[in-house]
Amino acid sequence: MQLQDSLAILKGFGPKSAEKFHKLGIMTVEDLLLYFPFRYEDFKSKSVFDLVDGEKAVLTGTVLVPANVQYYGFKRNRLHFKIKQGDAVIGVNFFNQPYLQDKVEVGQTIAVFGKWDQRKQVMTGMKVLAQVEDDMQPVYHVAQGVSQASLVKAIKSAFDSEALALLPENLSQILLDKYRLLDRQSAVRAMHFPKDLAEYKQALRRIKFEELFFFQLNLQVLKSENRDETNGLVIPYDRASLEAEIAKLPFPLTGAQERSLDEILSDMASGAHMNRLLQGDVGSGKTVVAGLAMYAAYTAGFQSALMVPTEILAEQHYESLQGLFPELSIAILSSGIKAAAKKTTLAAIEDGSVDMVVGTHALIQEAVQYHKLGLIITDEQHRFGVNQRRLFREKGDNPDVLMMTATPIPRTLAITAFGEMDVSIIDELPAGRKPIITRWVKHQQLDTVLGWIKTEIGKGAQVYVISPLIEESEALDLKNAVALEAELKDYFADSARISLIHGRMKNEEKDEVMQAFKAHETDLLVSTTVIEVGVNVPNATIMVIMDADRFGLSQLHQLRGRVGRGSKQSYTILVANPKTDSGKDRMTIMTETTDGFVLAEEDLKMRGSGEIFGTRQSGIPEFKTADLIEDYPILEEARRMAAEICAQPNWQTDPNWSILVQGLRERSDFD
Ligand code: ADP
Ligand code: MG
Repeated sequence: MQLQDSLAILKGFGPKSAEKFHKLGIMTVEDLLLYFPFRYEDFKSKSVFDLVDGEKAVLTGTVLVPANVQYYGFKRNRLHFKIKQGDAVIGVNFFNQPYLQDKVEVGQTIAVFGKWDQRKQVMTGMKVLAQVEDDMQPVYHVAQGVSQASLVKAIKSAFDSEALALLPENLSQILLDKYRLLDRQSAVRAMHFPKDLAEYKQALRRIKFEELFFFQLNLQVLKSENRDETNGLVIPYDRASLEAEIAKLPFPLTGAQERSLDEILSDMASGAHMNRLLQGDVGSGKTVVAGLAMYAAYTAGFQSALMVPTEILAEQHYESLQGLFPELSIAILSSGIKAAAKKTTLAAIEDGSVDMVVGTHALIQEAVQYHKLGLIITDEQHRFGVNQRRLFREKGDNPDVLMMTATPIPRTLAITAFGEMDVSIIDELPAGRKPIITRWVKHQQLDTVLGWIKTEIGKGAQVYVISPLIEESEALDLKNAVALEAELKDYFADSARISLIHGRMKNEEKDEVMQAFKAHETDLLVSTTVIEVGVNVPNATIMVIMDADRFGLSQLHQLRGRVGRGSKQSYTILVANPKTDSGKDRMTIMTETTDGFVLAEEDLKMRGSGEIFGTRQSGIPEFKTADLIEDYPILEEARRMAAEICAQPNWQTDPNWSILVQGLRERSDFD
């Protein structure tokens, strides 16, 4: 057996059952071993006095009277006995499990897992536990056709077949000793079936360290690659023609835009290699700054490229750039483009007749050859993996790198999470913007809201309505959006032109819908979260988010950023009946502040409550087990260690560290 073998090799598995596990991303035996539980059922015995009504727990006690079984109807029966825990006598019922009678002997100590009924002082048993010791049962994320039981069975089968013994250590002994970490095999075993809480904590610490360490090592390697290329590109741009372009803008730059642009330009003009993050809240005007930097590169005879995560954004930036610089030759590359057109575009990029390129991931495909690529920009940079960013960089001969993000990330965290980079911040909104007014309403108040929207549309306003987010299923997302559109069409009849956009549409369709909305040929756009990033329609002033409590703060903030882009007063209506406290808190915070930094910090504080879907939006990479806030001390230590190792010349061939190279290779992309 090998770690890369399909699960089909395990006992009790066929190709069919192995395939079911694919839904969970488990393809190989190794994937299975590293598929950790997300929590544990606590089978540690409790005192009856600590139980609350309805709680599921384990009670241990001595059996007082023999179990008797009462039958009352077809295959329906109740097994009853009493146990004594200290001075307390507790009744235990098991329904329809008469065979347990033999297992219950008077005088024996027994552990029962069940549900506590406080009023009757009775435990409804669900399970008699084999051993009385402390026990923790793993609970995994499952999928259709793969149950908890089948996962546990599969992992046990993998352990029995000694697959675990094949799992290589990936941290060097020096690190294990220094941080007193469990070895990898012990840690993986204990992640699934810990003997007790203490062992689990040990295992978790090791796995978290491993995860954060390789993340940091990867960043450090990237950084030292950067450093090794000593002579950074010098881009001697023409200040006068750039000033002329700035003067032609329909608005003056804000002070923060000017400052950020200057920082970027001075990096570009110097021989130092630019590696800069441009942070600015939604609507703060990052695109113009990026465009001007690209123009500067153009004046020095360099090509530049702007990579964005979605087709819609690519289109939009393409149009913005064309609007800003009508005299330049600007190309767009995205997967939606026809083969013939693409061929012409690729040729024009390669021979240098194109000045600027905008596009999606299509920009980093092998077929794309640039001509004197001097500046590369990534918008919504957290949507791209480390490897994608690396590929982008390698498209040029050490081009200057600018990354943009709309999510304010606390500075220390930004540095640690993204490696050492310079940061420019646009912390000022263009003049004349009115803060968005945010209201939280319950579903019962929707009628009032719709009435108000009708009036506003009558006055020329445009509206986004975001349909609820369904975490598991894109198909359900769509169904929801379609139903919502139908309801709204019903309601508004002739008083509003309504359209729908969703992720399953073809790019041309999306584009058409978006263009029509931009041109005010429609008044109300029902949308799934496909419009979440960057879309710009200044006349849209109302944003309604259905079931807003299903979104995380960062994502809500992003969505809200679609309005408030012009000089008119804008509104965001959060429609939600949250069931949890954290849901309520999020709704309240949204109505209280529009400050992205405050929201980012709140979001990070709340993360880990396990119900925030928008973690990707926070701009911080996701980890399997580690949490960047909670585990910040581990992250810091991992960073220090990784930097120390990377600073040693030829560490890759040093026997002390060479073991790390393989681990690094396996984990060099976090997306
Ligand atoms: P984001 O930072 O979210 O990418 P955009 O670059 O899309 O923001 O800018 C949002 C809107 O603000 C656009 O319509 C843009 O033309 C406009 N804008 C940008 N800078 C200014 C400015 N200095 N004054 C007025 N409007 C501006
Ligand atoms: Mg933007």
